[in-house]
Amino acid sequence: MSTYARQTAQGAQGAQTRNVALPSSLDEAVAALAASPSAVPVAGGTDLMADVNSGLLRPGGLVGLGRINEIRGWQYADGAALLGAGLTHARMGRPDFAALIPALAAAARAAGPPQIRNAGTLGGNIVTCAPTGDSLPVLAALEASVLLAGPEGNRELPVSHLLTGMDPLRQGELLAYVRVPLLHAPQTFLKATARTGPGRATASVALVLDPARRGVRCAVGAVAQVPLRPLEAERWVASLIDWDGQRSLAPEACTAFGEYVAVACIPDPLPAADGTPAPELPPAAIQLRRTVAALARRALGRALA
Ligand SMILES: Cc1cc2nc3c(=O)[nH]c(=O)nc-3n(C[C@H](O)[C@H](O)[C@H](O)COP(=O)(O)OP(=O)(O)OC[C@H]3O[C@@H](n4cnc5c(N)ncnc54)[C@H](O)[C@@H]3O)c2cc1C
Repeated sequence: MSTYARQTAQGAQGAQTRNVALPSSLDEAVAALAASPSAVPVAGGTDLMADVNSGLLRPGGLVGLGRINEIRGWQYADGAALLGAGLTHARMGRPDFAALIPALAAAARAAGPPQIRNAGTLGGNIVTCAPTGDSLPVLAALEASVLLAGPEGNRELPVSHLLTGMDPLRQGELLAYVRVPLLHAPQTFLKATARTGPGRATASVALVLDPARRGVRCAVGAVAQVPLRPLEAERWVASLIDWDGQRSLAPEACTAFGEYVAVACIPDPLPAADGTPAPELPPAAIQLRRTVAALARRALGRALA
């Protein structure tokens, strides 16, 4: 008998019996998924249980990750932080974590109401990969990588490969850790929502300074399926900064950067192949462009302040 607890739970109407495994280590969790291929992992359940409750998902079993202590904290490894996938938004929002990775802490503090932040995890946010996932633009700007544990062994890949589906999670694989380079330089995350108070992003911007590489990295969330990196705008603004001096920019340069980012992420429609002129950008897209431009301008200004 394995060391993880195996229980049975009755389905909503008592019609189906489902397996619930509660492993206490990553190895046990991988084994539990291998033993029950139709089971799915569940961390905080804030995304998954919404799908189960609405009938969109009927998993053959659940592998709960909440008792795996090794993925609920973080450690240091070669100039990077190794973040456990089970870190909750609430934990990442605390001051000690904010001192380490300020932009991720800011995103965690903005990720929904307190009940959601107490339960929802970094791993769940990444695997759900919703366009409005607040941690995603931060991880893209930080050029983080993910460490996966599976029946075939462990592997590491850039977070962008996972998010874009270039290299998706394989059957039975778990997201174990997220490796985030520690840049020891200002970084920001700003988010616009459609209403006052906690809400999903209509647009978000993460911006980090990387003095060692003399780079500015920026990622825009919520305006496309995955976070977008406006690479030309990044290179342009980095070339304006005096990295050995004050690192300040004129307000006009910050404004121009914001517009550069916004147009790169929400481009003008292209003319049709038959030569028909391109349609005008719809009013909603124009508004979104303004929002992105304002967020990027402010994010740069704050990082340089
Ligand atoms: C009311 C409400 C408001 C919200 N607001 C926001 C918001 O403002 N910003 C935001 O970013 N999100 C928001 N969310 C979404 C959600 O809270 C986050 O995406 C959360 O981080 C998901 O984490 P979880 O641990 O609850 O994931 P779960 O629901 O447990 O899992 C989500 C998915 O990830 C998989 N999974 C989880 N952990 C792992 C792992 N370690 N390895 C492999 N697969 C895994 C599960 O199988 C499932 O497919 C909101 C949700 C609700 C219900």
